[in-house]
Amino acid sequence: MTTMAKKKTSSKSGKPHFERVLLKVSGEGLGKPGETGIDGEALQRIAEEIVSVAEIGVEVAVVVGGGNFLRGATVASESRIQEATAHYMGMLATVINALALQDVIEDMGQPVRVQSSISIHSACETFIRRRCIRHLEKGRVVILAAGTGRPFVTTDTAAALAAVELHADVLCKATKVDGVYTADPMKDKDAKLLTSLGYNEVIDNRLKVMDVSAVDMCQRHAVPILVFNLMHAGNMKKAVMGKRVGTRIDE
Ligand code: UDP
Repeated sequence: MTTMAKKKTSSKSGKPHFERVLLKVSGEGLGKPGETGIDGEALQRIAEEIVSVAEIGVEVAVVVGGGNFLRGATVASESRIQEATAHYMGMLATVINALALQDVIEDMGQPVRVQSSISIHSACETFIRRRCIRHLEKGRVVILAAGTGRPFVTTDTAAALAAVELHADVLCKATKVDGVYTADPMKDKDAKLLTSLGYNEVIDNRLKVMDVSAVDMCQRHAVPILVFNLMHAGNMKKAVMGKRVGTRIDE
């Protein structure tokens, strides 16, 4: 565990440090705090971060969450809706976010596609791994919707699976704080930002970074995880250039 490490890892050549990245954006990041739905400004800021790296040639796949609309476990606990059904509802919420993000990215002149793990033929493509990779190779941003397509897991798990399946060089996990802290920075002013962590430190200490299964998947396939604040303009570019940003989790 390291707090405020000293070493910079930026690539000196000016070329991106990572060629293909998997970005996980939670639904919360697309909405207004405490409100249901999409916030146009948040959507715009996230789209700008994505486009800023796509236009320098970085291949970007984005997994979007749906927590700004609903989370399956919460819906099931508050109603007579079966939990599996509620999870499918949560997956459909991620499709709403994906379609919104697609339009804003496209409006900025950046080619983009949505691929969903649940087939919704009239609204977007269905996830096909080889097709997804082809889009990435052609410089299109691909937004992956509907998580894994199966209930009882979250979009963190979907992001880790996608990172492995698509051979991403890094999994970027967008958060509303600057990375992983020693305590909740919203509640404890002495909380310190941890700039680097081992996978096992996250798993063993049950740090609330991502689902344990997602971290485990990244560890088994040696995919580093970068946790940083996507609301700070320029952070995405810093991340892909290998500059220090947020918290890096690896071996
Ligand atoms: N979900 C699911 N399977 C998946 C991904 C998501 O069932 O593979 C459901 C689950 O109910 C989850 C909801 O979709 O609560 C929204 O996703 P998530 O909570 O991961 O969104 P985020 O917290 O990232 O906004």
